[in-house]
Amino acid sequence: MDVTRRGFLQITGAAFMTSVMYEFAGQTAAMAAESGGAYKLVDTQETTTICCYCSGGCGTIVSTRNGELINIEGDPDHVINRGGLCSKGSSQFGVNSVYDDKTGERIINPNRVQKPMVRRAGKSEWEEISWDEAFDEIAGRIKKTRDENYEETADGVTVNRCEAIASFGAAALDNEEGYALQKLCRALGMTYIEHQARI
Ligand code: SF4
Repeated sequence: MDVTRRGFLQITGAAFMTSVMYEFAGQTAAMAAESGGAYKLVDTQETTTICCYCSGGCGTIVSTRNGELINIEGDPDHVINRGGLCSKGSSQFGVNSVYDDKTGERIINPNRVQKPMVRRAGKSEWEEISWDEAFDEIAGRIKKTRDENYEETADGVTVNRCEAIASFGAAALDNEEGYALQKLCRALGMTYIEHQARI
């Protein structure tokens, strides 16, 4: 079939218009569907923070309603990640909540450890203890270890150190917490102080 230049333009023009109309029809249906549902972030309070998982420090926005966590997503205004989160960062919401398979309702993640746990020497089972018991036990062990191992001098030189305790910080520590922890470690005379951010 011979197609003139004018005929070619008419055919391609008609095909283009058909595809545009099809796209608009699809989008109209999608937009209508979206506007019918309740926006999940309505009436929430936004708080900016950083991802708890690695030393990248990606910025996130945490949305809460009446003190309840509703959503966590990347902060588009953050200088490091501009709103993007890796797969680990994107899953932060699941640390707190998951959706029930059967009801579809949001529930507190049943795998989350919410109370202090201890596994005693020689035991295979973990047992729950109260926060007071946990603090007392940790403080008691630190004091005992420091008392038994503190050195004021070594080889005639003043050292004031305790090499029997070490500290390893995780990325969940923010700047201020890291500063306070560093103060505590130095006050105890500790020399082995590390942080995941150095990896
Ligand atoms: S989103 Fe990923 S890269 Fe960013 S801080 Fe979290 S774990 Fe690290």
